[in-house]
Amino acid sequence: MRRILTGATVIALLLGAAPAGAAPRPDPAADSDRLSWSARHLGRQVLPERDGWAAEGAGTTGGSTATPERTRVVRTRAELVAALGGDNAGNATDTTPKLIYVDGTVDGFEGPDGTTLSCADLADPQYRLDAYLAAYDRAVWGRVAPTGPLEEARVRSVANQTRQTQINVGPNTTIIGLRGARLTGLTLMIDRASNVIVRNLTFVDARDCFPAWSPTDGEAGNWNSQYDQISVRRSDHVWVDHNTFTDGDNPDSAQPTHFGRPYQVHDGSLDVTHTASLVTASWNRFTGRDKLMLIGSSNTVGPDVGRLKVTLHHNLFDSVLQRLPRVRFGQVDVYNNHYRLGGGDFQYALGVGVQSALYAQNNFFTLDATVEPADLLYDWGGTALTERGTWVRQDGGPARPVDLLAAYNAAHDPDLGADAGWTPTLRHGPVLPAPLVPLLVGPLAGADRLPV
Ligand code: CA
Ligand code: CA
Repeated sequence: MRRILTGATVIALLLGAAPAGAAPRPDPAADSDRLSWSARHLGRQVLPERDGWAAEGAGTTGGSTATPERTRVVRTRAELVAALGGDNAGNATDTTPKLIYVDGTVDGFEGPDGTTLSCADLADPQYRLDAYLAAYDRAVWGRVAPTGPLEEARVRSVANQTRQTQINVGPNTTIIGLRGARLTGLTLMIDRASNVIVRNLTFVDARDCFPAWSPTDGEAGNWNSQYDQISVRRSDHVWVDHNTFTDGDNPDSAQPTHFGRPYQVHDGSLDVTHTASLVTASWNRFTGRDKLMLIGSSNTVGPDVGRLKVTLHHNLFDSVLQRLPRVRFGQVDVYNNHYRLGGGDFQYALGVGVQSALYAQNNFFTLDATVEPADLLYDWGGTALTERGTWVRQDGGPARPVDLLAAYNAAHDPDLGADAGWTPTLRHGPVLPAPLVPLLVGPLAGADRLPV
């Protein structure tokens, strides 16, 4: 294929900038003229009125008003960064409305010349995992946080990776996948960037090349990863709809054990922290992952108070282990979701944290023989939640209504109270009886269900 020199390419060459990608690519702006009617229609959609917390006030419109110039189809990391404003380090401040269609697979590890970078390519010259393991083994180092040259080299390596795989999103943006679109090995960072819509994308394996050893996390210490699939921080009015979140062919079960603990290269799917608020997550499919959704990352009573308001509806939580979600401070509405849970590693579904106000209504839980209804709640320092209309189908038995709170309180002390202290009003459409939820959510939740 012959490279066509567009005006923009000529200017880029004159300025000494590398043209995007090694191989010739179609012009992303011109591509948007060839989108189907339905893709154009869905790209311009805004959050429906009253559809969860993100509908509060002016609602969430994303990049629905983008001009043709800021409407792009992207196929590579370089094109995605260009469509978001052109400079990954500064794109969070680009407030111009942007409508971005993802075509095919965009890989966060795609290097400047189009080849795929490895973890070794991103590592600081002074970092080596075997040296790190030798230095900070508890038998040698003790049970205190790693410090010194090797830890400093790990932190520099993380900074290298962050520049590469963390894609910074600005305000007034819609990112929507065309059929089969995948974002692999990257984090969408929505930080100080309000009014953002993310739809119809499959997020795969946002892995951390340089997990941190935290010897005082839990009884035996833990390896912790830095990278979520989507992080929402210091932002409001964010709608995350009809996406799929997986670890792909790099599941936690395939990771090695170091210091007797799993080497955790994954963090959250959709974490809402650092005073973020007014988020609606609808019709998503979370599958085969560990930590899903952390709402609030600190117990400190401070600026998170009155924030962290999130609505979760019609999501499928399938073979996932914890934080479905875990909540601090926020008023969080969890209704009409389907949970399919089991396996030996399952931990809990709804985490009731400090000053949290969870309102869980008409959710359906399909459990295997290893999970009891009393296991579905976990007290992370909260006092109460409102829970009603739950149904459970356990170990292939008949579906039945279950009072989750009563089951929890019968098995645990102290008891949790039954009133979260608020009643959701921002809901679009009727709240379905729980037995209908699996019938709808199974076929309709996740990427590649919208007629893009
Ligand atoms: Ca996180
Ligand atoms: Ca009790």
